[in-house]
Amino acid sequence: METNTQLSIFDLLKTHFGYDKFLPNQEEIIKNVLNQKDTIAIMPTGGGKSLCFQLPALALEGTAIVISPLIALMKDQVDALKANGIAATFFNSSQASEEQQQVLKDLQNGNLKLLYVAPESLPQLNFILNSIKISLFAVDEAHCISSWGHDFRPAYTQLKSLKEQFPNVPLIALTATADRATRVDIAIQLSVPEAKTFIASFDRPNLYLDVRPGQNRNKQILDFLKNHSKECGIIYCLSRKSTEKLAATLSSKGYKAEAYHAGLTSEERTQIQENFINDTSPIIVATIAFGMGIDKSNVRWVIHYNMPKNIDGYYQEIGRSGRDGLAAHTILFYSFADVIMLRKFAEGTETETYQLAKLERMQQFAEALSCRRKVLLGYFGEHITEDCGNCDICKTPPKYFDGTLIAQKVCSAVSRLQEQEALGMVLDVLRGAQNAQVFDKGYQRIKTFGAAKDIAWRDLQQYVIQLLNQGVLQIHFHENGRLLLTPLAKKVLFEGKKVQLANLLQEKEQIVVEKVKRKRAELFDKLRELRLKLAQELNKPAFVVFSDATLEDMEFKKPRTREEFAEVSGVGQAKLEKYADDFLKVINRHLDGLENNIPTHERSYKMFIENNLSPSEIADKRGLSEDSIYGHFIKMHQLGVPFDFSKFISSEEIHQIKDVQKTLENPEALKPYFEYFEEKMAYWKIKLGLYLGS
Ligand code: ADP
Ligand code: MG
Repeated sequence: METNTQLSIFDLLKTHFGYDKFLPNQEEIIKNVLNQKDTIAIMPTGGGKSLCFQLPALALEGTAIVISPLIALMKDQVDALKANGIAATFFNSSQASEEQQQVLKDLQNGNLKLLYVAPESLPQLNFILNSIKISLFAVDEAHCISSWGHDFRPAYTQLKSLKEQFPNVPLIALTATADRATRVDIAIQLSVPEAKTFIASFDRPNLYLDVRPGQNRNKQILDFLKNHSKECGIIYCLSRKSTEKLAATLSSKGYKAEAYHAGLTSEERTQIQENFINDTSPIIVATIAFGMGIDKSNVRWVIHYNMPKNIDGYYQEIGRSGRDGLAAHTILFYSFADVIMLRKFAEGTETETYQLAKLERMQQFAEALSCRRKVLLGYFGEHITEDCGNCDICKTPPKYFDGTLIAQKVCSAVSRLQEQEALGMVLDVLRGAQNAQVFDKGYQRIKTFGAAKDIAWRDLQQYVIQLLNQGVLQIHFHENGRLLLTPLAKKVLFEGKKVQLANLLQEKEQIVVEKVKRKRAELFDKLRELRLKLAQELNKPAFVVFSDATLEDMEFKKPRTREEFAEVSGVGQAKLEKYADDFLKVINRHLDGLENNIPTHERSYKMFIENNLSPSEIADKRGLSEDSIYGHFIKMHQLGVPFDFSKFISSEEIHQIKDVQKTLENPEALKPYFEYFEEKMAYWKIKLGLYLGS
C-alpha cells in the first residue's frame, strides 16, 4: 500500500506537473494530507506551496476547496492548472451570475478537482458543500486569518467553522509567515489545534542581501540599473505618491518603469501585471500590494526604497526574486526617518507592543554588523553556523577602529543640544551644516558645531546608530526621536571609556562585481518569443504556457524529439500534447542553423557558456582535441569576449611559464616547455600561460 501511494504521487508529479522531484517538504506534506491529517505548511515564497494541495486534490476522490485571498492570484493559478489539463475553476465576486451558476453546476456534478474560492464568497457555496464529496480544504496565505499577521483579512475568520462543519475532511493551511505567534494563531483560528506543522528551511541562498544607507537613493538606484538594465525587478515604496515619482524619474532616464498601487483601476493593474509577467515592462515601482502570488520566476532584483515594517513582509517581498534558483540581488535602503515614521504608524494601534517589537527586529537586521543571513534566519528560528558569503557584510566586512574621539564629539553635541534633538539635527550640527533649521535655533554658535565636518554624512549616521546599539545613546521615539545620553555616555565623556566603531565600506557597488554575466542565449529568446505568441493566442499570461525555469531547462537540454521534450522539467502530459511540436520545430531549426553557420571557435565557446560543458566534454562531443578547445577560448578572448581563465590556470603557473620563457633560445616552440616541466604540464596550459603572460 505504502509503495503504491509513493509510486502514484511521483507519477502524478510527472504526468500533471512535469516535475521529476519534490521540493523540500513537499513529499512529507502531501503524504500527511493523503493520510487525511490536518496540516500546516510553512514554506518561503517560491517554496512550492501550491503543489502541496494541488497534488493531493488529484490523488483523492472529490473536489478540493481552496480558499485564496486575491482574485488575480486565483485566476492565475486556475489558468496554470487548466494548462496542465486539470479540471479547476474559481468562484468569486468578479464573475457574472451566469458564470457563477455554471461553476455551481460543475461543482454539484463533481466535475471539478479543485475549486478556488474567495473567503467572502464561501457562504454562498455552503448549501452545495454539504451535498458533495470534498477531498480537502486548503487555506492559502493562511496568515490572513491572524490579526497578528501582516495582512489580516476579516473574512478569513469565518473559516473557523469549516473544521467544525466538516470534521472528517482534511484541512491544509499554507503560509510563508513563520513567526510563532502567527503560526499558533492559525491553528487555533482554523480549529485544527492538532495539525501537524511542517516548516521548510527559509534559506534562499541565491538571494544576495544588501543593505545601504538611504541617502541619494535615486542616484544609487540609477547606478544599480546601469548594470541591470535588461533584467526584471521590483522597487517597493511606502506611498502611492513615491511610486509615481520614482517611476517618472526612471522613465525620464530611459527605463521602462511603471507605478503600481491601489489607486489604479483594476484593469490598469491587471495590464501592468501582465506586462511585467511577459517581460514587456521590466520594472515595477509598487506599494506592497504588488507581487503577492505572482508566479514569475525570473525577477532578478528587488529594492526596498523604504524600510519594511517587519522581517516577515521584507522576506516575502525579496523572496519574489530568484524563484528560479538563479542569483538575484536585493537592496534595502535604510533610513532613520523611515523607522520614526513606521513607529508612528504602529503607535496607538491595538497591537502596538507587538508591532513595535517586530519593527525593532527589522531594525536590528538593517543595522547588523555581522552576516545578515544569520540575523534573518535567526528570526525564523533557524541557526546557521557559517557566515553566508552572499550578503554585503560578508562581501565587505566592517573594519573596526578606535572611535572614542568620534563618540565623545557625538555625546558632547547631544549634551549641548540639551538632549532635545533627533538624529538628523545632531548630524547637521556635528557636520556644521549651514541650513535654516540650524540657524533658526542658533545652533551654529554651540561649541561642537562642525566638530565632525570631516566625516561624511552617511558614515556619521552609521556611527551614531552604532552608539545607539552599544547603549551609549538612547532614543525617545515617542518624543520625535530625540537622542539622549545614557550612563555609559558619561563614562565615554568623562572617564576615558574606549569605544570601538565599525567602518562599513561604502564602495559596495564596485565590489559586488557582476557575476559572469549570463549571456542570454539566442535560443532562449526564440523560445520566449514562441511562448509569448502562444500565450497571446490563448489570451493568457506567458507563464501559463511555460515558466522561465522550464524554458531554461529546455534551452539547456535542447530536446530534438518528443521523448526528449517530455524530459524537460515542467513538461507534463498535457503540455507535451499541446506544445511539443511548436517548440521542437523552433529548437531543431535553431540547432540545424547553428551547426552550419557558426565558426568553430564560437561553437566551442557556446557549448562552454550555454551548456556548461567542460573543455574535455566539448572536445569529446566535437571529436576534437582538448588543446583545440582551449585554442578556441583564446581566440574568443582575442576577439574581445570576456573570458575567465582563472579556473584553468593559476597565476603561479603563468609565472613559472614566463620564467622558463626567459631561459629559452626559441621561446615560440612549445616542446621545450613541455620537456622542462617533465611532461607534467599539458600543451594547452603552456599555450594559455604564454598567451596570458604576454
Ligand atoms: P509558493 O506558493 O510557495 O510561493 P508556488 O506554489 O507558487 O510557491 O511555486 C513556486 C514555483 O515552483 C512555481 O513556478 C512552481 O511551478 C514551481 N514548483 C513547485 N513544485 C515544484 C517541483 N517539485 N519541482 C520544480 N518546480 C516546482
Ligand atoms: Mg503561493
